[in-house]
Amino acid sequence: MRVIDLRSDTVTKPTAAMREAMLRAETGDDVYNEDPTVQRLQATLAERLGMEAGLFVPSGTMSNLLALMAHCERGDEYIVGQQAHTYKYEGGGAAVLGSIQPQPVEMEADGSLDLARVAEAVKPDNIHFARTRLLALENTMQGKVLPLDYLARAREFTRERGLALHLDGARLFNATVRLGCDAQAITRHFDSVSVCLSKGLGTPVGSVLCGSRAYIAKALRLRKMVGGGMRQAGILAAAGLYALDHHIERLAEDHAHAQALGAGLEALGYSVEPVQTNMVYVDIGDRAQALAKHCAERGIRLTVAPRLRMVTHLDVREADIQTVLDAFAAFARS
Ligand SMILES: *Cc1c(COP(=O)(O)O)cnc(C)c1O
Repeated sequence: MRVIDLRSDTVTKPTAAMREAMLRAETGDDVYNEDPTVQRLQATLAERLGMEAGLFVPSGTMSNLLALMAHCERGDEYIVGQQAHTYKYEGGGAAVLGSIQPQPVEMEADGSLDLARVAEAVKPDNIHFARTRLLALENTMQGKVLPLDYLARAREFTRERGLALHLDGARLFNATVRLGCDAQAITRHFDSVSVCLSKGLGTPVGSVLCGSRAYIAKALRLRKMVGGGMRQAGILAAAGLYALDHHIERLAEDHAHAQALGAGLEALGYSVEPVQTNMVYVDIGDRAQALAKHCAERGIRLTVAPRLRMVTHLDVREADIQTVLDAFAAFARS
């Protein structure tokens, strides 16, 4: 039975062509700064994002951790969305390992943070308070793309307040493909940007943190400290370079599949949130467990959640969407 795994876009397997590229990769010891393929990946992505430098790291979690620690000192604070990945899904790393206090703020329906709310959360310079240093945004945020004019306003706001601005751009390229813009239309507003290669871009491992040369030098030291210095990592970086060349434009296919899935589910009477990129959120309520079981029996893997998230990716084909819709239709009748 063919398995259709909609739990996440992290489940993709490297394609044959990507494995070929990995096989051919030139390598060296990257801790000695001698891996030409890692250097090429870092330089390529940094250039594409309009940043001075990049740093290859094993995961998005480490990339965000280094990003926060390179912006903030012990006892500083960062402002972040209540549902943001850096705050909610990274084990509290910024607080645990960085001694950085998070100040979460309720998020708006479009995935942004209301800048008036953020302004209220910024602490005055007073011995009672942690020093607010940074605002962290996420794009895409649960599949939603932050509007470009919002990013411009966030940049202006942080400049006025003397705060740095970080982007958790795990799915940055889903946002650029949706908007039909180049990466810099988004990244030019930020001091630092973290991009995941192992989500929709389909590599087995890796993220890249980009920023100024001085900032990345700081992050490099922190990467070694947290154990993220890798040796012949060019094998992994080659997958990233391959993905940047071959797997960005095709994200439009994932978005089309998600649109078709969302529209089909709506036609079946399910309550579906508007679909912007590769994520479909459906309100399943207390039938989540039963639905997941029903689908698993048909080779469809789902996360069990009342607000069910389904994610399209490289390993989901057009024909799979109909298979999934048929399974949901049968479930609705049952
Ligand atoms: C997946 C993800 C991360 C972390 O990436 P890992 O490689 O899984 O550690 C960070 N931010 C967002 C928005 C993500 O979706």
